[in-house]
This record gives sequence, structure tokens and C-alpha cells, in this order.
Amino acid sequence: MRDLHPYVPGEQPKIKGLVKLNTNENPYPPSPRVLAAVKAAVDQRLRLYPNPTAEPLRARLAKLHACRPENIIVGNGSDEILALATRAFVEPGGGSKGTVQFFTPSYSLYPVLADIHGATKVAVPLRADFSLPTPAELKRGGQWDFQAALTFVTTPNAPSGRGYATAELDELCRAQEGVVVLDEAYVDFEPENAFALALKHPHVLVARTFSKAYSLCFQRVGYGAGDPALIEALQKIRDSYNVNGLGQVAALATLSSLPYYRANFRRINATRRRLARALDNLGFAVLPSRTNFIFARPPKFPAETWLRQWREHRVLVRWFNYPATKDYVRITIGTDAEIDALLRAARKILAA
Ligand SMILES: *Cc1c(COP(=O)(O)O)cnc(C)c1O
Repeated sequence: MRDLHPYVPGEQPKIKGLVKLNTNENPYPPSPRVLAAVKAAVDQRLRLYPNPTAEPLRARLAKLHACRPENIIVGNGSDEILALATRAFVEPGGGSKGTVQFFTPSYSLYPVLADIHGATKVAVPLRADFSLPTPAELKRGGQWDFQAALTFVTTPNAPSGRGYATAELDELCRAQEGVVVLDEAYVDFEPENAFALALKHPHVLVARTFSKAYSLCFQRVGYGAGDPALIEALQKIRDSYNVNGLGQVAALATLSSLPYYRANFRRINATRRRLARALDNLGFAVLPSRTNFIFARPPKFPAETWLRQWREHRVLVRWFNYPATKDYVRITIGTDAEIDALLRAARKILAA
């Protein structure tokens, strides 16, 4: 326990009036229907336990994805699904059966989950442009473990923002013997998704969340989908009431408001394209993004200096101090007004 390092979340500042573009939260509120449903649920029912298996929500999700409720588990955020998968599918100790595998850079929670479980970590770099190596390239690299008990793939990737084609993910899944979790936390902002792979392959799970695209970070609701045998394993080891009642209410109401959210995705994508062009004009090297954030290498000063300078202008962005990411900043797509504030500050920083 003394040697463990916890996951470091982005700052949730106490100071008011900061432009907060550091944790990929959605700048737009939940739909009016969601707010009304949560308010209506706050009454004497708070004394009761919530539905232990989130059954109504699983039924709605199954309908949405044209699968069965047995294909779905709901979690306290999709982070819980990732943690459950680690506990369920990775054996303690060494060897492939005890290995958690992932690409770098990707979601920095995976190594933390592996360490908590006492698992072996295999972290393999993406290509230099953050695209996905083919199984043949991975084989040549010699580091990748095709027998690893558990492989996490963030798709679209974070923090790079890059999207991967379903065909290349399918090829990777077919090359793996252990369980593959496709972490699709940002998939709603992108035209393509790999949900079908979780229904097609008995060893593939997809993890989704209501946090980012559906403006519901506060409520902590995510889900996993895949073969009933994998889902059953996760169901066996979760807490009996892992998803709180108001979260279930909010997620259900979200699924009744999908056109509202799709309009938000279009707005966020339009703002992202505008930000990418503006940063490019200022001399940033902007990576293509399929998400609600942009990963860019800033000009003139080191990325860490930009982080501090923007903070002085009351704008928060995220910086990851790892070899592959330390030259970049990650900027969450905010409202147009927030992005204008970030760009105004950037021009001042460059002119100083
Ligand atoms: C935000 C995020 C999650 C976790 O989302 P929850 O809020 O726990 O549902 C999972 N994976 C990635 C890559 C994320 O960025």
C-alpha cells in the first residue's frame, strides 16, 4: 500500500469564474427532462435502496443497442466497469494471466488499476502520430502480449483525441486471447463506434459513460456491454447497490432526450473545428480529434509553461507529465465564449 500511487484527477477548483477546460466535462447542461426527473425523484423514496441491478436502465440500453439486458452491466461511472474487469479477469501474480496491457499514451487510470490489483503491466507505445500499430507491428516490436489477461484500448483515444477505425480494432481484438475492453468514453462525438465488436466476440467488452457526452459526470453512471458470460462475471463481484438511485433516474431520462444531446455533439464538434483552426493559426501543432477535447503542441514555450500562463489568465487546461505527452496540452471543448476566452489569453501569452 505504501508504494501505490492513486489516480490524479483534473483539478476541481474552488475559485469561481475560472474557465474550466481541464477534465473533459460537457459545457452544456443535462436536458430539461433530466433535471426535472432528478428533482421529481428527490422525495421520501431516498430512504429506499435503489434497483440493485439497474434493471430498467439496462432494459432501455439493451433496446438502444439492439441487444439483451444480459449483455449490459451498469456501473458507478465507467471507471467502475474498468476496475471490475481488472478484478474479474486478471489473476494475481505474474505471467500473461496476471497481465494488464494498454497503449501509451492512453487513459492514465489503467496502470493505477493494475497496480492496485498487483498485476503485471505491459505498456506499449502507440505510433509516433498516436495511431494504432497493427498486430503484425506489435509482434515485430516484441513487447506486446497477445495472451494478456486484459487489454484496455481507449477509442477514440485520450489524451490524443485520435479515432481508430472499427476494422483495425477488430483486427486487434481477433489477435488477442485474453479479454479486450474497448473504452469508448468519447465515442459519441465520433461518427464510428465499435459496439458491434462486443456483441460479435465473446472476449470483447465495450465501456461507455454518461459522464462526458451526456453531461452527467456528477451522477456517476457508465456501463459495460458484451457477452453474457463476461457480464455475469462482472455482476458477481460488484457492490450490491453499485449505482445510486438518482443516477439511474438521470440516465433513464437521458435516453429519452437523445435528440437534445445529439444537437450538443454537433455544437461541440463545430466549436472544436473552430478552435483547431485558431490554434493552428497561432502556431500550435494540433492533432486531429474525434472527441470533445484537443491535444496540441504549443509554440514558443514548453507546454507546462502554457498551463501556468493560462491559469494566470484564469483558464484551466490539462497537462500530463509523461515522456510521450509532456510537450502537449489537452484542451476540453467548452462553450464558444469559453473557447474565445482561451484564445484571447493565448494571444496575450504569445505577445508578452
Ligand atoms: C472520463 C473517462 C472515463 C470514466 O468516465 P466515468 O466518469 O467514470 O464514467 C473512462 N475512460 C476514459 C478514457 C475517460 O476519459
